[in-house]
Amino acid sequence: MVSTRHPEPTTRSPRRRTPTPLSIEGMFRNLNRHGDGDIFVKAYSFTLTEQARAAQVYPFFQPLDVNDGPVARIYGKPVLMFGSNNYLGLTRHPKVMEAARKAISKYGTSMTGSRLLNGSTHLHEELEQRIARFLGKEAALVFTTGYQANLGTLSALVTRHSVALVDKADHASIYDGCRLADGDMIRFRHNDPADLESLFKRRVGERDCLVVIDGVFSMGGDIADLPRIIEITRRHGARLLVDDAHAIGVIGEGGRGTGSHFGMADGVDLVIGTFSKSLASIGGFVAGPRAVMEWIRHFGRAMMFSASLPPSATAAALAALDVLEREPEMVERLRSLATMWREGLKSLGYDIGESQTPIVPIHVGDEYMTVVFWKTLIEHGVYTNPVVYPAVPRGKGILRTSCMATHTPEQIEQALEQFRAVSGKLGVLS
Ligand code: PMP
Repeated sequence: MVSTRHPEPTTRSPRRRTPTPLSIEGMFRNLNRHGDGDIFVKAYSFTLTEQARAAQVYPFFQPLDVNDGPVARIYGKPVLMFGSNNYLGLTRHPKVMEAARKAISKYGTSMTGSRLLNGSTHLHEELEQRIARFLGKEAALVFTTGYQANLGTLSALVTRHSVALVDKADHASIYDGCRLADGDMIRFRHNDPADLESLFKRRVGERDCLVVIDGVFSMGGDIADLPRIIEITRRHGARLLVDDAHAIGVIGEGGRGTGSHFGMADGVDLVIGTFSKSLASIGGFVAGPRAVMEWIRHFGRAMMFSASLPPSATAAALAALDVLEREPEMVERLRSLATMWREGLKSLGYDIGESQTPIVPIHVGDEYMTVVFWKTLIEHGVYTNPVVYPAVPRGKGILRTSCMATHTPEQIEQALEQFRAVSGKLGVLS
């Protein structure tokens, strides 16, 4: 039954404050709001998105008409796609699509159950073996998303009296996995081995320890200082997990990720990855020692209590991995286009931070300016992603851009031309 206790929600709150479209502060103040007598009051007084829509700068949940590769369509108009994680452009590869179709014909659309019980197929097992072989690890486990791979792995391993040392710029799913775990989490300064070393000395004590980093950072596009992090981790007798969601298919020999990029794959105990980026599907995995996989399989709640990756997605990931193994030159092509993209943006005067990969952030700062920049670029036929708090710190809005192996150099030039025009119009280069 619907409660009638608060019939006029939008007029209820005496402390209602109207945030400006420039400020996202009000939104997060409301998050911890309490004592209004109704748990929904925070939602009813949340007006920021309405205001952003009224100002026609609301950037999220925008449906794409077509998302085919380098050219997509939004609002009925073609746009050059520079905001996708489809790094190798495999989502429309004929072999990948055919594999998904065949899997639906054979298994139907869903297994309707978890891997533990009725949700496993031979395809899941084959994908696990193929991922393990690709990365040179003993075994791998396939989860329904990369997010769940982090949740299941971290909550299973970081048990009471253990500690995870986590880079401040790690992905949200790493933080959430640590929150779910009974052990502690301590953060170290982004990509700062000296700070990691100091945490070992000051805070870890006798506890079992897992160091957790992104290999390629999802917002900055920078690569972890793996050699120094491996050295410190080993010296302190800890283990290392590298989330290579944005590194698989992107860096390393034939796209084998960060360990391979540095020639140090054996120094990485556990690799986390996702199928939702270079591997053109959805789903996630962890790869490492067989005994550890067996442990996570039976204690990783995100695997045990959630339905398995659908057969079509499993088969698509397998086919994408096949294509990657057969055509490693795609990774080279991506690398050279990414260099062109980064150098082009830098030469226009943009601050792209420490990016060394196809993920190239443009540091804008002000949140409102970030969304106006995004919107103006769409009007100029270029699609990017505006990223604001809490994905990045407050007042540090970025436009996250990314290029794909299937872009042509001409498309990169065209996009750069539009960036040039927009920066003139908005004065974003200050
Ligand atoms: N790790 C990192 C570094 C990511 O960027 C993401 C997704 N953006 C994930 C994990 C989660 O992956 P998925 O989308 O497969 O849940």
